[in-house]
Amino acid sequence: MYNLNCNHYKLDYVSGDKLNTEAIKELFRQKGLKATPQRIAVYKFLVENRIHPDVETVYSQVIKSNPSFSKTTVYNCLKDLSGCGLLIPVMIDNEKIRYDADTSFHGHFKCEKCGSIFDFKCVDTKTVGIEGFEIKQKDVYYSGLCNHCKNK
Ligand SMILES: [Zn+2]
Ligand SMILES: [Zn+2]
Repeated sequence: MYNLNCNHYKLDYVSGDKLNTEAIKELFRQKGLKATPQRIAVYKFLVENRIHPDVETVYSQVIKSNPSFSKTTVYNCLKDLSGCGLLIPVMIDNEKIRYDADTSFHGHFKCEKCGSIFDFKCVDTKTVGIEGFEIKQKDVYYSGLCNHCKNK
């Protein structure tokens, strides 16, 4: 069974676990988000595919099983899901917004050769000079070569 407490809930589906529709509906209900088939399909894709996809990628994948979805619908779903904190919009390159279903604090590494984005664990970073500030978002972003590309 899924733990309904949100903080624990996140830990329950780390790394690509399948999430059933009932659990998604319950999660949406807690967030006050109407459980439309579109939102469910989009969220399920993001949870099951931790590839930090942009709207184009999400759209091209979800229409395979939901041919009636429009790109605008998919875009709106991503916006709604981000708005209630179920997805985090990630700006890794300046070209496009990608979406992440892992909303816990973690860093992103982008390989400049293959373009893959890797999640990495990041113990909260030490900061100097912004004492007392109200922090709304934290991004940790590294780039370079992944092991596979480095050894080619
Ligand atoms: Zn690479
Ligand atoms: Zn991530």
